[in-house]
Amino acid sequence: MATHDLGSIKVISFDGDMTLWDFEKVMRHSLSLTLQELRRHVPDQAAAQLNIDKMIDVRNTVAAELRGTANLEQIRLIAFQRTLELIHWHDPVLAADLNQLYLKHRFEDIELYPDVIPGLDVLKDFFSIGLLSNGNGYPEKCGLSGYFDFVIFSQDIGVEKPHAEIFLSTCRQAGCQPWQLIHIGDSLESDVAGANGVGAISVWLNRKGEQNRSEIVPTFEIHSLLEVTKIVGR
Ligand SMILES: [Mg+2]
Repeated sequence: MATHDLGSIKVISFDGDMTLWDFEKVMRHSLSLTLQELRRHVPDQAAAQLNIDKMIDVRNTVAAELRGTANLEQIRLIAFQRTLELIHWHDPVLAADLNQLYLKHRFEDIELYPDVIPGLDVLKDFFSIGLLSNGNGYPEKCGLSGYFDFVIFSQDIGVEKPHAEIFLSTCRQAGCQPWQLIHIGDSLESDVAGANGVGAISVWLNRKGEQNRSEIVPTFEIHSLLEVTKIVGR
């Protein structure tokens, strides 16, 4: 298991969605407010064909089509255009307004998990701290201004975790070697496998205490971000 020299750790990178905040919750909440607004503009019979799960499906289809060619905010706008097309309602201005409303709530209504600020408060004095996300949650929009020394979004690098390039790019930006980096995230496939792949220290944040049914072996497994301080001896 832990064959790494933990004394050499200089940099700690965190995944965003489901690690620092519950993305699923804020996404559904924001879609629900957007759907309410849509219902104010579209005849009941047409709007009745929509629900949140359908809107998520539309967005995921658009994301799969445009992966690597559009950023997440453009994908979301096209998803609202496509949602209106689905109910045969042509109104590009409404699609743009719905997108603005969605993005406002999606960014402003994020709730951090309760262990985030207490954990970061201890770690930030000793380590360079980064956000390393396949999503687009900006720290300054959700109460995390000043905590991160660097922020890396896969949509800016052109590849997503677990691709090695995103972790190597993190090391370049943070000025460290892979073995001096500890990466923490909720996904075995993206976060743990990606960190393992470049020789960084991986931490699986398993908030719900799920069984690891994969072949992917994290260097450490934790259930709360407060446990990070024990791993790094702070
Ligand atoms: Mg995640």
